[in-house]
Amino acid sequence: MNCILQAVQHRIELAAGQAGRDASQITLLAVSKTVSAARVRELALQGQRNFGENYVQEALDKIASLQDLPLIWHFIGPIQRNKTTAIATQFDWVHSVDRFVVAQRLSEARPLARGLLNVCVQVNLDAESSKSGVSPAALPELAEQIARLPNLRLRGLMTIPRASLAWSQQRAPFAALRKQLEALRQQFEILQAGRTDLHDANVQLDTLSMGMSADLEAAIMEGSTCVRIGSALFGKRI
Ligand SMILES: *Cc1c(COP(=O)(O)O)cnc(C)c1O
Repeated sequence: MNCILQAVQHRIELAAGQAGRDASQITLLAVSKTVSAARVRELALQGQRNFGENYVQEALDKIASLQDLPLIWHFIGPIQRNKTTAIATQFDWVHSVDRFVVAQRLSEARPLARGLLNVCVQVNLDAESSKSGVSPAALPELAEQIARLPNLRLRGLMTIPRASLAWSQQRAPFAALRKQLEALRQQFEILQAGRTDLHDANVQLDTLSMGMSADLEAAIMEGSTCVRIGSALFGKRI
């Protein structure tokens, strides 16, 4: 067992314990951007299954050379329209959907044989920044539009908050995202009660993709179900 992987798993277990949660509800997503396929393979052979990538071309090469392993690939980077076919074909999850045209193209390009593509909507919680992500105000409508797309399954929300060191400042945006997901669940309960055109299969709001190397404890305290960990597993990126 690789001691670095073990150390990160231990952090997750400790944080889950402190939050009174079961660590088995939290997926460790290893963010392997800029990391070689050989190092991904090494971690996979130690039992790591979920890997996240930000850049399409880099990811396609890695996915191709690791096809013999039963890995689950997550796309977590900004999405260019002309890359949607590659993403829909090669990935199991997309965490960074933030506009309808992208969701629509992902749904159209998803091969039926691969089943529904799991998607999270990326929310930009600090409005003044130029980061990607939909504003909280525009989230309800976008989520409803995505839920109608036949080849996607809406799983939840993702955010990348501004980096802060203080514990309470780290928790605030994660708490805000959790509340957004709770509101979305209520929205869909009401919608599904009154409509037959929204299918349960396309909406399964069980995912809060939040927390990175520096703030996974705060994210888990606020309900994260998927922490995206790069540097704590692979070292600083150059
Ligand atoms: C790079 C990246 C991460 C991992 O960040 P670390 O601080 O290295 O753990 C997580 N999420 C996204 C969207 C990223 O781009």
